Amino acid sequence: PSAWLVVAKNSLQSSRVDDLNTMQAVQYTVGGPENLFLDEVPIPEPKDGEVLIKVLYTAVNRADTLQRKGGYSPPPGASDIIGLEASGIIDKLGPGCPPSVAVGQKVMVLLAGGGYAQFVTSPWQLVMAVPDQFSMSQAAAVPEVWITAFMLLHKLGHLTKDDTVLVHAGGSGVGTAAVQLVKQIGAKCIITAGSLEKIDFVKTLGADAGINYKEESVGDRVLELSNGKGADLILDCIGASMYDENIKALALDGRWIVYGLMGGAIKSEVNLGALLRKRASLIFSTLRARSLEYKSSLVRDFSQLALPRFENGTFKPVVQTVLPLSDIAKAHTMMEANKTLGKIVLQVHE
Ligand code: NAP
Repeated sequence: PSAWLVVAKNSLQSSRVDDLNTMQAVQYTVGGPENLFLDEVPIPEPKDGEVLIKVLYTAVNRADTLQRKGGYSPPPGASDIIGLEASGIIDKLGPGCPPSVAVGQKVMVLLAGGGYAQFVTSPWQLVMAVPDQFSMSQAAAVPEVWITAFMLLHKLGHLTKDDTVLVHAGGSGVGTAAVQLVKQIGAKCIITAGSLEKIDFVKTLGADAGINYKEESVGDRVLELSNGKGADLILDCIGASMYDENIKALALDGRWIVYGLMGGAIKSEVNLGALLRKRASLIFSTLRARSLEYKSSLVRDFSQLALPRFENGTFKPVVQTVLPLSDIAKAHTMMEANKTLGKIVLQVHE
């Protein structure tokens, strides 16, 4: 809803000066948000099969804060610049791009890095058309969290309409996308969040029930809400601190997909017996370092499912706020304080 959209002023000016070949990009030294700064760096050249995109907007992801702290290096070959998604205009084609991509096209793109900059290169297979009704700021909020949620639910979780799905951090970027994908299939969706405000908002996206994990036992409530059956599928970005509740919440033959560790990585006592009795499938997944082949097929399948539903308004990216790229330290601070609901988008060019 538009109430969540606050557009900030004074964005960066375009600094494309062809004979200089430099651009502004966010750089950092390992540490806190105050260590992020804008600097001039070379504009990348598109290699074989790549496009160069003039970035209009990028968006912030949790992984960006980890990278800033030195805990999440880019995969081999990816840009050192932070930023996993962007929207913009194709500015130049490298050799070997097919006729379906052309200079001037408006695109949104899934990146392995490089988004916090005025220009970024990407394999042509990872760019998607921007839905007609979308602003370019909405488009920047889509690729990373929607494609992650799509991968977890459909490719790894084999979601069906009969499932009860537990989505942790329902107000997160990934959570707000996951809820909508779960409801599109017709399955039941229970979310967790740390405040009533977040729970109420995520219910407007279709969540059937919300559990405040700070005040209630997640496992007990999931059993109550599912008539004792439990959750057939759990999307878990919390890890250690939610481990015991997830064991309790998981249904017989349930699938439990761990894709983040915001609640810690180390769990001192793990009872494999409980997992065995549930015949649990425990799956771990990342997206950024997957092969181009895997990501291309995700982008293709996701586009087929989601683009028509973005066009007709069934799926809505949730943009909490739009800030200029120069406010990057503020954006990371907000995210790390768990103050965000949906996405923080960053304006890069006018
Ligand atoms: P986000 O928008 O920053 O949202 C994260 C939310 O999680 C916070 O606002 C907070 O909301 C909740 N949270 C934080 N710490 C928590 C804790 N210890 N226990 C319970 N809830 C907690 O995050 P995002 O960018 O969507 O990313 C979400 C997660 O997905 C991250 O862990 C990220 O690394 C992961 N991720 C993984 C992949 C992959 O492929 N594996 C891809 C993308 C993202 P409350 O107010 O509700 O506490």
